[in-house]
Amino acid sequence: MKLMECPFYVICPYVFYFHQEKEEKIMSEYFNVADIFGEDVFNEKVMQERLPKKVYKALQKTIEEGKELDLATADVIAAAMKDWAIEKGATHYTHWFQPLTGVTAEKHDSFITAPNPDGTVLMEFSGKELIKGEPDASSFPSGGLRATFEARGYTAWDCTSPAFVRHDAAGAILCIPTAFCSYTGEALDQKTPLLRSMEAINTQSLRLLRLFGNTTSKKVTPSVGPEQEYFLVDEKKFMQRKDLIFTGRTLFGAMPPKGQELDDHYFGTIRQRIAAFMKDVNKELWKLGVPAKTQHNEVAPAQHELAPIYSEANVAVDQNQIVMQTLKRVACQHGLKCLLHEKPFAGVNGSGKHNNWSITTDDGINLLDPGKTPHENIQFLLVLSCILKAVDTHADLLRESAADPGNDHRLGANEAPPAIISVFLGEQLQDVVSQLVSTGEATHSNKGGILKTGVKTLPDLEKDATDRNRTSPFAFTGNKFEFRMVGSRDSIASPNIVLNTIVAEAFCDACDILEKAPDFDAEVHSLIKRQLTEHQRIVFNGNGYSPEWVEEAERRGLPNIKSMVDAIPSLVTDSSVAMFEKFGVFTKAELESRVEIKYENYSKAINIEAKSMIDIASKQIIPAVIKYTRSLADTINTVKAAGADASVQAELLSETSALLVETKAALAKLIEITATAGAMAEGADQAKYYHDSVMTAMSALREPVDKLEMIVDKEMWPMPSYGDLLFEV
Ligand code: ADP
Ligand code: MG
Repeated sequence: MKLMECPFYVICPYVFYFHQEKEEKIMSEYFNVADIFGEDVFNEKVMQERLPKKVYKALQKTIEEGKELDLATADVIAAAMKDWAIEKGATHYTHWFQPLTGVTAEKHDSFITAPNPDGTVLMEFSGKELIKGEPDASSFPSGGLRATFEARGYTAWDCTSPAFVRHDAAGAILCIPTAFCSYTGEALDQKTPLLRSMEAINTQSLRLLRLFGNTTSKKVTPSVGPEQEYFLVDEKKFMQRKDLIFTGRTLFGAMPPKGQELDDHYFGTIRQRIAAFMKDVNKELWKLGVPAKTQHNEVAPAQHELAPIYSEANVAVDQNQIVMQTLKRVACQHGLKCLLHEKPFAGVNGSGKHNNWSITTDDGINLLDPGKTPHENIQFLLVLSCILKAVDTHADLLRESAADPGNDHRLGANEAPPAIISVFLGEQLQDVVSQLVSTGEATHSNKGGILKTGVKTLPDLEKDATDRNRTSPFAFTGNKFEFRMVGSRDSIASPNIVLNTIVAEAFCDACDILEKAPDFDAEVHSLIKRQLTEHQRIVFNGNGYSPEWVEEAERRGLPNIKSMVDAIPSLVTDSSVAMFEKFGVFTKAELESRVEIKYENYSKAINIEAKSMIDIASKQIIPAVIKYTRSLADTINTVKAAGADASVQAELLSETSALLVETKAALAKLIEITATAGAMAEGADQAKYYHDSVMTAMSALREPVDKLEMIVDKEMWPMPSYGDLLFEV
C-alpha cells in the first residue's frame, strides 16, 4: 500500500510527518560504498600513491613471482605503511597469523621508540619488523614440532595478502597478514601450507595449459568464495546460558513448538534489528576491502548468511577470518551474540560454509569454464576428469579437511551435507560424461547445444548453473565447484590446501602422460575416457540424504567417514604423505604434528563440553528441579488441607522426581567417564574414548533434562529456552 492510500494519512496528518522524519533519519545514515570501500586497506592504489616507483615495482615482483624482498626495499615499504596507518589513527602494529587453534592470533606492538632525552617519542617501524616477527609462541599447538627443532617460532609477512588497519575498542591497529613457522621452516599455521599448495597448482596448471598451446598465461590461482552461515541471539539471553558461553553451542534444550518446518525464515524479510546489524557489518567489511555481496535469512530460525565476492584463495582465507571476527564484534554493538558454531541448537539446521572454488589464469581464463570451442571443451573435459580422479582418490582427505568437533553433529547426521564425498555434475554434463565413458565420443548434448565437430566430436557445452542439487557435498555449479562440507567456524584454509594439492597431483599425472605422447589429440581423448571411466563411481546426481545412497555408496566402495576421530588418520596414509611431500605442501613430520594436534583439540573440545554439562546440571538444573518439587509438595499439602483434589500435582511430583533420579544417575556416570577420559594419555585412543563414551554419557544426561524442561515451571527453569533464543531475537 502506498502512503497516500493509507486511511490514517487522511485522518491523522502527523503520521505523514512522523513517516518523513523517520525516512530522513535513515537517509542521514546512507553512504556511498565506492567511497568507503578499502579505505582501511594498504592496497594497490595506496601503494602506487605512496611508494617510490622502484620500490613499488620490486614489491610487485615479489608478489607475482615470489621473489625475496631485500631489507632496503622493506624499510621503505614499512615507513610508508606506518605513515599511512598513523594517519588512520593506528598506534600499534601486529603480525596477524593463523596458528593451529582455528582462530587468528596477534600480539600488538606500539610504534613508539624509547623516549628521547627531551621526553618525546618518535614513531618507528622498520623493514625488519615488517617482514619478520618473533612472537613468544611456546603456547601455540605445534604437535611436537617445536620441541624437536626450536622453541620459538617466527612470523613472516605474506605480501600477497594486503595489510589493513582495524578499528576496535583497542583503537586502531595495523594488521600485517603473516605466515607462522618454526625456525627450521616447519609450518605451524594454516597459511604456509596454503601458499605452498597454491604454488603447486600454479605450476601444474601452467604445464597443462601449455599442452593446449597457451603461451600467454603467466600464473594460475585458485579463486575462492566462501558463503558464511551464522546464528544471532540476544546477548542478555546468551549470557544466561553457560553452555553457549563455554562451548558455543547449547548442551541442553527442549525443542520449541515451532522449528524450521514452515520454511518461513529462509529468504524471509529481514527484521529491522538484524537489518541494522547487517548494515554495520557490511560497512565495516567494505572499509576493510572485503567485498561483502549477498545477505539473507537462512533455513533455521535466527540463522543468516553472508557471502562475499570471490577472491584469490589466500586473500579469501584471510578475509573469511575478518568476516567471522567482524560478525562477532558488530553483534556485541547491537546487543546480540553471533554464534559461529556448526550446531548451536539440536533439532534445527546447523551452520556451514560453502567453499566455492575455481582455478583462473592471470589473463582471466577460468579452467572450470566449459568454453565454447571444441578445443576449449577438450581442455575443460580433461580438467574435469582430473578433478573427478582427485576427489575420488583422496575423498578421505577432503572429508578430513572439513572435520571438526562441531561438524560431527552435521555431517552424516541427517543434515546437509552427507559425510560421504560424491560429485554432482548436473544433467547435461552427466550426459556428456556417460557418452564419453560408453563410446569414447560425445556426439550430442541434451541441452541442444550446437555441435562442434573439430578434432573429434564433442558437443558445445554451455554454462549450466540452473541444475542445482543441494544434497551434494561437492557440486559443479557452472564454472566452479562448491564444496559444502566445511564447518561454519573453521578456517577455510584446510579444504583449499587439500583441493589445490589433490588437483595439482591429478594435473601432474596427466601432464606426465601427455607431454610424452606422440599423438596429443589421440592421447588426450583416451586419457579423458580412461579417467572418467575409472572414477565415475564418485559421481552421484541423486538425493544425497537418502538411506539408499548410503547403501549404494558402500557398494561403490566410497568411504563413509562418520566422525572427526575417524577422519584424522587420512592425513598420514601412505598416499597422502607421498602426495603432500611430492608437491612440497607438508612434510611427513608436519602431517604427523597436525594429526597429534587434531586429536588433542578434539579431546579438549569434548572435555570442555562434558565439564560444562556437569557444571550446569549440578549447579543450575538439579537445584531448580528440587525447588520445583518442593513447591509441588507444598502445594499438595495446601490443596489437600483445603479438601480439594491434588492428584495432578501428585502425578507431576512423581514424574519430576523420577526424572530427577535419572538425571542424578546420568550426571554421576558422566562425571566418572569424563574423569577416566581425562586420565588417559593424549592421542588417538583418548579422542576415540571421548567420542564413543563421553559423548554417549552426555546424550544420556541431556535426555531426562530436556524432558524436565517440559514439566518444570518456566519461571523456575534456570536458563532461556530454545523458543526464547530462536524466536525472540
Ligand atoms: P549460491 O547460489 O550457492 O548462494 P552464488 O552464485 O551466490 O551461489 O555464489 C556463491 C559464492 O561463489 C560467492 O561467494 C561467489 O563470489 C562465489 N563464486 C562465483 N563464481 C566463482 C568462481 N568462478 N570461483 C570461485 N568462487 C566463485
Ligand atoms: Mg552455495
